[in-house]
Amino acid sequence: MDGGMSWVEGANEPAGDFPLANLPMGVVAGEGRGVRIGIRIGAFIVDCRALAESGMLARLDRTISDSLCGSSLNQFMALGRTAWQAARGEFMRLLSAECSELSDHPLRKSIMLPEWGMSVQVPCEIGDYTDFYASIHHATNVGSMFRPDNPLLPNWKHIPIGYHGRSSSIVATGTPIVRPRGQTVAQDEGPPAFGPTKLLDYEMEVGALIGTGNRIGQSVPVDQALDRVFGLVLLNDWSARDVQKWEYQPLGPFVAKNFASTLSGWVVSIDALKPYRVPLPPRLSTDPQPLPYLQGMDDTLFDVNLEVLVSSAAMRAAAMPATRISIGNYRDMYWSIAQLIAHHTSGGCNLRTGDLLASGTVSGPTEESRGCLLERTWRGTKPIRLGDGTERKFLHDGDEVMMRAWCERPGLPRIGFGECRGVIMPTTS
Ligand code: MN
Repeated sequence: MDGGMSWVEGANEPAGDFPLANLPMGVVAGEGRGVRIGIRIGAFIVDCRALAESGMLARLDRTISDSLCGSSLNQFMALGRTAWQAARGEFMRLLSAECSELSDHPLRKSIMLPEWGMSVQVPCEIGDYTDFYASIHHATNVGSMFRPDNPLLPNWKHIPIGYHGRSSSIVATGTPIVRPRGQTVAQDEGPPAFGPTKLLDYEMEVGALIGTGNRIGQSVPVDQALDRVFGLVLLNDWSARDVQKWEYQPLGPFVAKNFASTLSGWVVSIDALKPYRVPLPPRLSTDPQPLPYLQGMDDTLFDVNLEVLVSSAAMRAAAMPATRISIGNYRDMYWSIAQLIAHHTSGGCNLRTGDLLASGTVSGPTEESRGCLLERTWRGTKPIRLGDGTERKFLHDGDEVMMRAWCERPGLPRIGFGECRGVIMPTTS
C-alpha cells in the first residue's frame, strides 16, 4: 500500500512533504474545536477525533480509536508498535485513491481540515529530554576549536555522550525565541558580566520520541530499541555560545541551552521511514569496537536530508527568499538511535512515553553540512552572507531560522518533516 495515490488535494505532488506514504501525526488547534490529534496529508489535516466519532475507525480496537480522541499523542504512543501499525494501515486505506468511504462521506468537510487554518503544537507531552552529541564531525569540529591537537576526548568513541536537558521550555515551531541573558566572560578566567548573549546559535538536530518505555532497573537491549521509538521530529537546540563557554565545566550545558528548544510539529513514523533506513557510516580501522551492549543493530540510522535557512527581518519584509546556510544528512551520525537508547538505559534508567532523545547537532564531512553557526562560521571567523548582503557570525534579533528535512530516493515517494522555525526577539528585562 505504501507509495500509492490519495484522493486528498496536494497529496500526490512529487515535491510535497506529505504523501500517502508519510501520514505523520501531530497535535493541532484551530477551527474553534480546541486541541486535536491530527494526521497530515497533502494540504489537509485529518481530525482524528472527528474521524473516530464518525464511526469510520470501527475496524480498529476500541482502545486505539479512543486513544486518538484526546488532546495529546501520549495515550496512543503508549499502545506500542502493533497498535501504531494497525492505525497506520487504516489511515492509509481511508485516504487512498481506491477508497471512497471517507472521500464520499457526508462528514468529510468536518474531518478533513485545511492545514492553513490550524496551528501546530508540540506533538506530545514531553516528559524527559536528553540531548546527545552523536555526530563525530560536530564533536571533532567543536573539539578542535578548543583542543586543536586532541579534538575528541578518549571516551568519545566508546560512549554516546549526552546530557539531560529541560522539557519545560520545549516549544512548537513558530514560537518566537527571546534572546537569553546569562553570564559571559571576556577572558577565560573571568570575571563575568551579565547580559544578553552575543553569540546566539541554532543546532540542527533529529529527535526520537519514545513510544513505549522500560521499567526502572531494566535496560533496553540494542536490538529491541528501535521498536520503542514512535517517530522522529526536527529539533532546534538554541544555544548561547558565550554563556556555554563559561558555564559548561564541570557538569555540562545549563542556562546556555535551557531557555528554549523548538520542535517541528509532525512526527514521522519509523514505518514511514523504513525505506530510508541505512547502516552506520564505515568506521576507521583504528576505531575501537563498541562494548557488546552497544553492538548489533548498526542499521538504525535514516537517510534524511537536513536543511537550515536563515532570513533577516528585512529580507522577510522585502519578501526575499531565506538563505540556505547548510545542507546535511542524518545518515552521517556516528551513533545510531538504537545505540543511544541502549546506552541511555544501560544503567537502569527508565524511559517513558513521550521522552525525547535528540541526536545532537548533525554535521557531515563537508563545510556546507555543518549543522550550527559555531561550526559553519568557525566561531565567527568566517562570516556567512545572507541574501540581503548582511553578514552573520551568529544570530541577530529579527532573524528567523527555518529547518526542513526530507527523504527521497528514485522510485519512492518523497516524504518530509515539514518545518521547524523560530524568530529571534530582543531580550526583555
Ligand atoms: Mn544540542
